[in-house]
Amino acid sequence: MTTAHVTCPLCEATCGLEVTLDENQQVTRVKGDEKDVFSKGYICPKGASLGALHHDPDRLAAPLLKRDGEFVEVSWQEAYDEIDRRLPPILEQHGRDAVAVYAGNPGVHNIALTLYGRVLYKALGTKNFYSATSVDQMPKHFSAGAMFGDPLAIPVPDLDRTKHLLILGANPLVSNGSLMTAPDIRGRLRGIRNRGGKIVVVDPRRTRTAAFADEHHAIRPGTDALLLFALLNVLFAENLVQPGRLEAHLNGLDDVRELARPFTPEAVAPRTGIDAAAIRRMARELTADNAVVYGRIGTTTQAFGTVASWLVDVLNVLTGNLDEPGGAMFPLAACQPTGNRRPFAVGRWRSRVRGYPEVVGELPVATLADEIETPGDGQVRALITVSGNPCLSTPNAGRLAAALERLDFMISVDVYLNETSRQADVILPGPSPLERPHFDLAFYQLSVRNVANWTPATLPTELPQEWETMLRLTGIVTGQGPEADVAALDDFVAAETARRNGLAVTGDRTGPARLVDLLLRAGPYDVTLADLEAAPHGMDFGPLKPRIPEVLCTASGRIELAPEPIVADVPRLCAELERPLDDGLVLIGRRHLSSNNSWMHNLEPLIRGGNRCTVLVHPEDASRLGLTDGALASVTSRAGKLEVPVEVTDEVRPGVVSIPHGWGHDVDGSRTRVARANPGVNSNLVADETLLDVPSGTSVLNGIPVEVAPV
Ligand code: SF4
Repeated sequence: MTTAHVTCPLCEATCGLEVTLDENQQVTRVKGDEKDVFSKGYICPKGASLGALHHDPDRLAAPLLKRDGEFVEVSWQEAYDEIDRRLPPILEQHGRDAVAVYAGNPGVHNIALTLYGRVLYKALGTKNFYSATSVDQMPKHFSAGAMFGDPLAIPVPDLDRTKHLLILGANPLVSNGSLMTAPDIRGRLRGIRNRGGKIVVVDPRRTRTAAFADEHHAIRPGTDALLLFALLNVLFAENLVQPGRLEAHLNGLDDVRELARPFTPEAVAPRTGIDAAAIRRMARELTADNAVVYGRIGTTTQAFGTVASWLVDVLNVLTGNLDEPGGAMFPLAACQPTGNRRPFAVGRWRSRVRGYPEVVGELPVATLADEIETPGDGQVRALITVSGNPCLSTPNAGRLAAALERLDFMISVDVYLNETSRQADVILPGPSPLERPHFDLAFYQLSVRNVANWTPATLPTELPQEWETMLRLTGIVTGQGPEADVAALDDFVAAETARRNGLAVTGDRTGPARLVDLLLRAGPYDVTLADLEAAPHGMDFGPLKPRIPEVLCTASGRIELAPEPIVADVPRLCAELERPLDDGLVLIGRRHLSSNNSWMHNLEPLIRGGNRCTVLVHPEDASRLGLTDGALASVTSRAGKLEVPVEVTDEVRPGVVSIPHGWGHDVDGSRTRVARANPGVNSNLVADETLLDVPSGTSVLNGIPVEVAPV
């Protein structure tokens, strides 16, 4: 028996786990690491399934090449030879934009793909870069960029010191925190109660978090921006604006006052479904010390995602709770992003077919099918997916799946033959989480406490590490062919990282370990990778500290409270106040503790407990529509139609139905036996790819107009 201490890479919470292995290197137990400086023994069912993931017989053990429509296992050399035979001619004949990239969410939890994926993408030089961000949190990057100058400067609730937490569109008891790295959310929310504080949840559904909260307001989907503006309106009307120390760092306060004027509680009440008196009370409560507003997926994947994300932080500023203990604070991770920080800019290029502006270096994935289907200069003819499953994760998934069939060539870097990678010509697998080192580069930037933990690989593997795969592909797209010197490329990446940080490369480390060591040495805490290696339960750098003005990167050096690219979208929201009230059904998503997007449905321990993929319907709607519990219903939108079992419950408010995302595994050609036996339905078949949050290009996945009928 041996025991390894690892940081769980499966969600944003970064829990420390203790993994026990027997003499045959079989995982016999996974439990929370009680000595972990951050998670202190917490574990959720996903983390406990790390062994099941490692031993999953469906995980790919060798590259797959499609020959005559069938996948066959091939050597790495054969796989790279095929890529070298087919990819460079597309680049030469049609240009770099002819090759698109889709980067999925698991890549952000993978140090090799985070650090070396960007090397490949930069070498490729395509404008057709897409990721799961445009079906998730892009509005928050947009608002952080516009207000603070840096799309990665996202303030997080100072959860361990706050006394009043207003949550919109988030269910942290199930997600374990998102854009808020915080293991043991339940314990931390209990802490708010123990300090005499209060938790208020605004959500169309009585989620687990809403049921736990002191107060729940079942808002109409897509109206969060109206509610947030009304909260601001009350603050101005009642002279409650108190930015405190930040007043000296603000631009645009008067503009915000003017913008908030039409959004009185009375004007927004009938649209949000929250009465004016409750809105006034919510606004007054925010003026207490140690109060914070936090918005997540329900506020970002909707028609006014950027405006809502912006207003969350405007409220935190104007109530004196931004950059203050107990409010919304900026983490200071041990590894800071490198490079010259330049003020945020958008629209440096536009999508070819629909003209959507680039945001943070990418285009909306909602338009990827357009770019593949539409002939002309710049048409996408090849695609590289990296740890992504866009055929389940992106809107109008049926159209995208059909579009992928038109590609001349497709590569998937993926551990499974899944609903998307089945359409690839070559699949390049990677090691399991226990076979690779891990450092949570992305999520320590969003952590409610400044911590760091390095995990060496627990087990050996015969598979190449994904950073080597990324560099091999880099060699091919830069014309060096499959025999490119990966070690020399890695040395070059390290030298560049060192140069940008004013350091020199020393020692004999390679790959991500060398880069993380460089980034740590360039970071704020005077630590090296050797220090982290000597601390298997992590290092604690303490609670969050105020960072304004140092964190700001706007051209003015101040917080832009009324940034032009967001203010330009406010008239669209004003028009909502004039629109006739619509009483049609709208669809929202939901998430389960044992699931993370489309991953992990092939792990038997995580899909136990019956079919979770149902449509939730309020009893009043069920009765009106003739829907019965357990029977099948059809759900139809402009984009498509699906059939799903009905679950009648007053958990959702009338007029709202809910289907979880990430399901729909009943697709021929995939090789995920457990998932195929428990397929569920793909909610993105009815997600409309033409509905977007205008500034950020993020898909509307909450608040999709649908019709529901008995089958
Ligand atoms: S909460 Fe997230 S990080 Fe913690 S054990 Fe579960 S999946 Fe892993």
